[in-house]
Amino acid sequence: MARILDGAALAAAIKQEAAEEVSRLAASGIKPGLAAVLVGNVPASEIYVRNKVQACAELGIYSDLVKPPADVTTADLLAIVDKLNARDDIDGILIQLPLPPQVDSKRLLDAIDPAKDVDGFHPVNSGRLLAGRPALAPCTPAGVIEILKRSNLPIAGQHAVVVGRSDIVGKPVAALLLHENATVTICHSKTRDLPAITRQADILVAAIGRAGFITPEMVKPGATLIDVGINRLATREEFDRFFKGDPRREATFAKRGSTIVGDIHPKAFDLAGAYTPVPGGVGLLTIAMLMANTVRAAKMRRGI
Ligand code: NAP
Repeated sequence: MARILDGAALAAAIKQEAAEEVSRLAASGIKPGLAAVLVGNVPASEIYVRNKVQACAELGIYSDLVKPPADVTTADLLAIVDKLNARDDIDGILIQLPLPPQVDSKRLLDAIDPAKDVDGFHPVNSGRLLAGRPALAPCTPAGVIEILKRSNLPIAGQHAVVVGRSDIVGKPVAALLLHENATVTICHSKTRDLPAITRQADILVAAIGRAGFITPEMVKPGATLIDVGINRLATREEFDRFFKGDPRREATFAKRGSTIVGDIHPKAFDLAGAYTPVPGGVGLLTIAMLMANTVRAAKMRRGI
């Protein structure tokens, strides 16, 4: 029976530790602060940001929500970032992605003070991460490492195969696994004979963005499967491909008109030694790690 790696329990433990650190800092008169920039009215982004602001409130972290309109210019946003960079009560700045097409996202992310870059997307932090220097690491990849470590799953010496090479997930998760002494292979859309490589993985990280892409034939029995993917199934046909007849999923689908599946086919989990479910796995760690990064940034900025 595969072991389920419970993202909710792990996220709760990380948040608890962050809350304890916030209390310790309060004794020295320090209150970590996070600013979230939410452009326009994209419903999914609104939900993500609401959850992040709510997590701040739960943990005693100050939060500030900046809501420019959808037609905001790059120059306006750069001015907002400049002000946040200069504010002493703000330790972390997050710009909720995606941004509208008229905005130069890269230029904006590069304008964030690397010391306040709690999403870990600034090239200075990517460089530090690769060089093994202290850095604010991107939240989802950092969450993957926390899942493995806190579940006492070995990383050193294991063959970790990462499918996906994005700047926000694939590359940083590969760097973090390498620092933990895994032997790392990074795969992508041009990789030849992907199944032959994924079948060698002791730890398989899927960050592809394609529903159920990793099938049982691509998995070594007993492997640890880390599913980063979040794919919404909104039609009956898509739903039936994965969950036809599954009473819990059928209930969700009937209620919400959709459900989510990861990049790993649910049937592949039967072969795993351990796996992160979707939902309830990696996704829940992302906000917890954002909180941890905000507390860390508050300490690092003050030389603590
Ligand atoms: P992305 O930027 O679209 O990158 C996808 C990667 O998958 C690319 O490197 C691409 O290769 C690779 N890929 C695509 N098709 C492939 C194929 N047929 N065979 C092998 N590799 C293939 O996506 P992302 O931002 O990294 O996100 C990946 C997934 O994670 C998405 O489902 C996203 O929703 C989810 N996500 C979850 C969280 C969370 O909190 N849990 C956070 C971020 C993202 P190329 O580089 O060659 O194109």
